[in-house]
Amino acid sequence: MELLSHAAVGAIASTAFYAKKSATRKEYIQIMLSGSIIGVSPDLTKYFGDLYGHSLIMLPLAGVIFGLPLKAWKWGFSFSYLWITSAVILLLSHLLLDYAHNGIALLYPFSQEEYKLDLIHRGDPFIWFTCILVLCFVLLFRLSKLSRLTIIFISTFVLFKLLCLQYTMTRIQDDSNIKQVLISPSYLNWNYSKETSYFTTIGTYNWFGLGQDTIIQRWFVNPNKELQLVLFETNYDGYDYVLTKENGCESNCSMLVYRKAKSRWVKIQNDAIEEVIEALYLQAKE
Ligand SMILES: [Zn+2]
Repeated sequence: MELLSHAAVGAIASTAFYAKKSATRKEYIQIMLSGSIIGVSPDLTKYFGDLYGHSLIMLPLAGVIFGLPLKAWKWGFSFSYLWITSAVILLLSHLLLDYAHNGIALLYPFSQEEYKLDLIHRGDPFIWFTCILVLCFVLLFRLSKLSRLTIIFISTFVLFKLLCLQYTMTRIQDDSNIKQVLISPSYLNWNYSKETSYFTTIGTYNWFGLGQDTIIQRWFVNPNKELQLVLFETNYDGYDYVLTKENGCESNCSMLVYRKAKSRWVKIQNDAIEEVIEALYLQAKE
């Protein structure tokens, strides 16, 4: 699906640049095929261990490598136009897409460091499905204008998703004791993991970052720095409580209750646990 996204965006971009009003259907197919090859090419060479195809620095050279054979199609464009546009096609259909999800060594060979945004899920169907649908119409009705509109549409989608990511980040970082936050996109959600001084949480927010997050799992780091699985949390009688069990324990696990007093968590002594648990459950039922 990832290759399909690169090929589909490449075909859309090349149609936007090269398909003239007078172009025949055969020329449309040539143009789409060329764009798809440009779009997938960095991953084909990467298969043999080459990282040059993913480098931003090599983009002008890549433009020459693709511009020369494109000139042979005789579409009536100057070499400089083909050079610049094929580099832009490569940038849009591959480098930017990779940057937006799996990360690339943009400055190779000067640096091996990978840069990434974690914005789009691998092979997001919104991108490849939209592009393939549009390509069918473009080919059927020879509508190159539609390709240009699709580039604007997908760019807007990516920018909007960037805003959603920023907003979701601010919602996750709602705690002053944040140590680390990781966020990654799935098809319809943002998956996150958040680490604070006392809690580690794994959860999801919806695409827009709106509404309540869904907590999948949460751990409490007790005062002895042991990891406990959180079963229940509440505020009772003006105090925060957390009910936990030993992390990884499956059966006959002992429950532990901690209370937050003056910003420190303190373990409730064994003889008071049952009473506190009962009170907490009763309070939760209300
Ligand atoms: Zn790639």
